[in-house]
Formats: sequence, C-alpha cells, structure tokens
Amino acid sequence: MSQSDCLFCRIVNGEIPSKKVYEDDVCIAFNDISPQAPTHVLVIPREHIRSLDDADSNAGDTLGHLLLKAAEIAREKGFAKDGYRMVINTNSDGGQTVFHLHVHLLGGRQFIFPPG
Ligand code: AMP
Ligand code: ZN
Repeated sequence: MSQSDCLFCRIVNGEIPSKKVYEDDVCIAFNDISPQAPTHVLVIPREHIRSLDDADSNAGDTLGHLLLKAAEIAREKGFAKDGYRMVINTNSDGGQTVFHLHVHLLGGRQFIFPPG
C-alpha cells in the first residue's frame, strides 16, 4: 500500500518529480538528489516496504529484482566492469533516512571499504 506521508511513495505516484532512469511493474530507479558519486541511482520497489528489516520472506522476489535491475543499470551506464557499490542503509545505525526500502547504486569512482 502506498503511504501518503512517504517521500518515495510520492515519487512512485508522480506527486514529487524525479529523474527516472528505469521503471517496470515492480520497481523504479531515479537519480539521487544529492549524488555521492558520478552515478548515484536509487532503485526502489513500487510497493511500500519500510526497510530491509521489515521485509518478510514474501519479499524475496522483489529484493532479487531490485539487485538484478541495479546491476543491469550499472552495465548500461558502462561502469560494471570497472566496478560499483550497492548499499542498503537499514534503520538508524545503518544511516537510513528515508523509510521506504531502497538500493543505492553508486558508480564512476573508486570506493573504499569499510564505509564510514
Ligand atoms: P538513506 O539515507 O539510505 O535513507 O538514503 C536516502 C537517499 O534519498 C539519500 O541519498 C538522499 O539524497 C535521497 N533523497 C532524498 N530526497 C530525495 C528526492 N526528492 N529525490 C531523490 N533522492 C532523494
Ligand atoms: Zn513508501
């Protein structure tokens, strides 16, 4: 169910504009408003799932879909062979600020590990 107080549900519904790079029945992908790399795309389910911590076993197909689509976008953007980073910040210590599950896809520069 879409949540009227959720920023990313509002992006899914088109109530808030976004720079979409991909969409299908399950997910949409759009540019992060505050990019942390030359490419910084968020891949999110259309369905409101609060966080990875709230995803149950029924969400397996959706989660797999998000990762595979993000990997596809990385190939399309041309940096897959060089490499990239995917991140799912989860809850407060994980640095999650928008509570609608999303995969960050970051590419186009070297990353260090562990992240801060
Ligand atoms: P997180 O900290 O993992 O919850 O990430 C939330 C991300 O959403 C951050 O990288 C923000 O820059 C990004 N963000 C917030 N508002 C918007 C927006 N209106 N359009 C695109 N990205 C956004
Ligand atoms: Zn939502």
